[in-house]
Amino acid sequence: MSTPSRPNTGSVLIIDLTREKVVKRKVLSETVKRYLGGRGFNSKALFDMIPGRIDPLSPENVLALGNGTFAGTALPMTSRLHISTLSPLSGILGDGNAGGEFSAMLKFAGYEQVIVTGRAEKPKYVFIEDDEVEIRDAEELWGLTTGETVDWLRDEHGDEVSVAGIGPAGENLVRFATTMVDKYHSGARGSGAVWGSKNLKAIAVIGTKGVEPADPERFYGLAKEDIDYFNRNEFVRRIYSVIGTHYGLIQWYPSWRYFQVPLSAEELPIGLRPQDLAEYEVGRTQCFSCPLACKDVYYLPSTGEYGTASEFESIYALGSNNCVTDTEAVLRMEHMADEYGMDVMTLGDTIALARLLHEKGILSRGDVKGVSLEWGDAEEQIELIEMTAYRKGFWDKLAEGYRNFAKLYGEDALAYCYDVKGVNRGWYEVDFINGVFTLSHATSTRGADHLRGRSWAYWENDKLIDIEVVRGMLEAGLPDYRKDPVGALIYGERACTLADSLGRCKGSINSWLQAVPLVWKYPVFKGTAMLLTAFTGIEFTEKDVIDATDRIYLTEMAFNVRQGIKKKHYDVKFPPEFAATERAKAQLKRHWELVDEYLERRGCDVETAYPRRETLEGLDIGYVADQIGGKEFPEWDGPVRGVA
Ligand code: SF4
Repeated sequence: MSTPSRPNTGSVLIIDLTREKVVKRKVLSETVKRYLGGRGFNSKALFDMIPGRIDPLSPENVLALGNGTFAGTALPMTSRLHISTLSPLSGILGDGNAGGEFSAMLKFAGYEQVIVTGRAEKPKYVFIEDDEVEIRDAEELWGLTTGETVDWLRDEHGDEVSVAGIGPAGENLVRFATTMVDKYHSGARGSGAVWGSKNLKAIAVIGTKGVEPADPERFYGLAKEDIDYFNRNEFVRRIYSVIGTHYGLIQWYPSWRYFQVPLSAEELPIGLRPQDLAEYEVGRTQCFSCPLACKDVYYLPSTGEYGTASEFESIYALGSNNCVTDTEAVLRMEHMADEYGMDVMTLGDTIALARLLHEKGILSRGDVKGVSLEWGDAEEQIELIEMTAYRKGFWDKLAEGYRNFAKLYGEDALAYCYDVKGVNRGWYEVDFINGVFTLSHATSTRGADHLRGRSWAYWENDKLIDIEVVRGMLEAGLPDYRKDPVGALIYGERACTLADSLGRCKGSINSWLQAVPLVWKYPVFKGTAMLLTAFTGIEFTEKDVIDATDRIYLTEMAFNVRQGIKKKHYDVKFPPEFAATERAKAQLKRHWELVDEYLERRGCDVETAYPRRETLEGLDIGYVADQIGGKEFPEWDGPVRGVA
């Protein structure tokens, strides 16, 4: 029987594929206190190991997989895996977050993080079983879908093995290919293409050591309070354990025909209503240590396949935004995206953009080589998804992903590309909550994102919010978004950074409220500080927690500065027809006022958007200031290709 590893003294596994060498390094307590885990560890590793502008698909890029601090414990929803890299989609920091069992297994094997560098000459996979780590041939695996890959590895290593890896899209360097975990849990921003560029198919892990908190009685006492909260919260359970994020279809106005019309609950077409999707549901599943089980399992009669985790985003992106209303076809497309390993939002938004550009004559019939690109053509869209994953013919260009695709057709095409820093914004209302939602897209350190700030958690009319929790937090000094939108956004960013670093799921309810453990009882980060102290044995105060999140966020901002991000890239784009209106101009003016205030309050230079030296030194990361201070970097315009 192995001795349980101490959670705060696990190791980092560094895998150099070029030299086929594996190194293990202990994580120091000081590193845990300063960067927490998960996203925090990854962002620091990327800043330290990627010195400047490189081609994200070159061997110099780094792939980091980080457990959350609480991975493998009974604290609810805390086994998310954070996957970070220099994104081949955007050319800035790219990270994503996936559920499943991998994060817990990695923790049980005694590792906090895996860092992959270099490029193997031939396809490889990594097998980890506690202290044993092997780089093995993967030629038999190359070409398999994500599901086939997991099945192959389970045949080889046993059913308990957990797998992170890629499908054909990652192998073919599709720029929005994902890292898939245990078949169906996805991490976005193109990390899958980085695995492909490194000739790395998968990492399979079995861990048997368990996790032991420094103060088990205290930690599990606090964890039980959090478990009980979810168990007695009927509202959260009713929504997330029964409907999942399909709830968004009747709450968030999914877009029709490339963002042209927002659909109310009454306007949802037959085929895309929650009750239509429910007809295909045959069960539910969950990630490790989650009492909610938000993920549906669906059956596709026409192909005999099972899929899982159909979400609001996939239904709007592959369905309504492309005017496809055939329920089974949309579910099949989502399943294909999972099996090929592609991000559904970028996939669906890029296909819809191609349709629009074709309609407007910006893409000619010759460009698209015989494909009709008719809105709503489900059969054709199924073919397009396969052609994109294999980069066949014209669809090689679509595989470049959203802004990179539009850029191939010049300024006319870019005018219809609603991205922030190269990442599609997905569905949003342009004036949602006085521009704060838009602001959170602009300030996100991984490009447009609704999971980076989530300031809209305070919207009192939002039926998903536990209003009692909000009141408690406001009383505890949390800024109210209506009076102090920037202060509220910064708190949201801290909360999301914290959740990603602890390994906590942000999808449990559609706000960051429950993503911060115990926030409902000890607002705002006090409960987390108590849990961290009990778990790690390192004394954490609430200020330590806030400082750690700021250290992580500003390191990410500095990483992006080195990739050429300037203040102008905090811009947001509106549809050309709307951008010309007085309302849009007023919103943009307000947006830039908020950006200025945000930069000031984040301790950045308001003219350049660089984090200031005194801010970085105040967080004890003066070395980050040394890397960017007084330096000019070539302006960002998407991912670097070849030599920078
Ligand atoms: S709420 Fe859903 S996505 Fe989040 S941990 Fe639970 S099952 Fe996984």
